[in-house]
Amino acid sequence: MTAPIEIPNEVEIRGDRFVPFIDAQRIQERIREIADAINRDLTGSTPIFICVLNGAFMFFADLVRRITIDCEVDFLKLSSYGEEKISSGSVKLVKDLNCEVEGRHIVLVEDIVDTGYSIDFMKKWIAKKNPATLKIVTLLHKPSSTKITHALDYVGFEIPTKFVVGYGLDYAQKARNLPAIYILDSNHDNEQ
Ligand code: 5GP
Ligand code: MG
Repeated sequence: MTAPIEIPNEVEIRGDRFVPFIDAQRIQERIREIADAINRDLTGSTPIFICVLNGAFMFFADLVRRITIDCEVDFLKLSSYGEEKISSGSVKLVKDLNCEVEGRHIVLVEDIVDTGYSIDFMKKWIAKKNPATLKIVTLLHKPSSTKITHALDYVGFEIPTKFVVGYGLDYAQKARNLPAIYILDSNHDNEQ
């Protein structure tokens, strides 16, 4: 029998302490609900699911395996936060798509919407390629820190303005492998 994935009680990265916030089971339950909604809403079309690397890779894999309609996948990558916990506000594309977007139904899959600058950039960039439709899925949304508001079609969880890691999300490239989401422990560090 395969051993269960280990879930640590706390994680320390560069002197910052992170504690459990959303457990693996809750994430999977929410993904199932989102996938059901997408399967229903996009019945009859063959969408292209676009994974925004790196942060969305785990969410993306769990989401698309629950998609039952015909679909394709592709990947793009934006410049990252670097080593910091605060959004720089400048967004650049560092890996382009391989697919033809024109006339297709596009589902953009993000890990988290914070300031909204990344979504704003990607929406404008994809719109120029004339998709038939564009839907946005994000696992997490921080409504209180969003500066540019765009309609988010499917949101996993709304969370407070605090830095989170795990389940694909990193801090200085670490912690992406954690199977659940952890939040910065404010008793220990109140930088954000
Ligand atoms: P935005 O452009 O909306 O400010 O930020 C979007 C990107 O910043 C996300 O896709 C994610 O990669 C990163 N980001 C925003 N908030 C967090 C957070 O709390 N934790 C981590 N690890 N990354 C975040
Ligand atoms: Mg992201």
